[in-house]
Amino acid sequence: MNIETIVVGQFGVNCFVCTGSDGQALVVDPGEDAEVILATLRARNLTVAAYLMTHGHCDHVSGLAALHDAMPAPVAMHAADWAWAFTDANILPPIFNTAPRHPAGERIDFSEATLYQYAGLAFSIIETPGHTPGGVCLYFEESGTLITGDTLFAGSVGRTDLPGGDSRILSASLQKLRALPDPTRVLPGHGPASTIGQEKRTNFFMQGD
Ligand SMILES: [Zn+2]
Ligand SMILES: [Zn+2]
Repeated sequence: MNIETIVVGQFGVNCFVCTGSDGQALVVDPGEDAEVILATLRARNLTVAAYLMTHGHCDHVSGLAALHDAMPAPVAMHAADWAWAFTDANILPPIFNTAPRHPAGERIDFSEATLYQYAGLAFSIIETPGHTPGGVCLYFEESGTLITGDTLFAGSVGRTDLPGGDSRILSASLQKLRALPDPTRVLPGHGPASTIGQEKRTNFFMQGD
């Protein structure tokens, strides 16, 4: 699996373009700057097999509909975040003054029970609520890669003071991530990459008891 990171929007969201072997890509969190993401896909001769949303926050989903217009593909997110992601509950003035536009086309509700296969890549999701009710991490076991959204950052975790956030629930989600192998590469929704082992050693929020 090849992963290209495109940093988008005023909040510096990491949008990931994951490619396997068949000229198709998975696009994770196209938060803004749809035209930049589209130009990257076209430059690489890629079409989109699916859009994967780690969670519903406006900085992670606002570029989705425009990108989907140009390259339609199924859109996957947890149902608990589909519930509000494209409503006025998801505005953040003065930067996001209107609700993110709902993408057309097929909707997929993420489930922990499913092994997903797109673009020649297999992954599962780990439900990690706490930052939002429907937050998930995307786990590509074969390459030992975990895309964590705003659940886990290098040295920190996502805030829990926004609507739907809950610090105790986030804490339980982080305990689930501790069970992954230490070498697992962590690709967060903002900022630099890390590993599970590094975070277990140095991230206050990942300490066990
Ligand atoms: Zn967020
Ligand atoms: Zn974010």
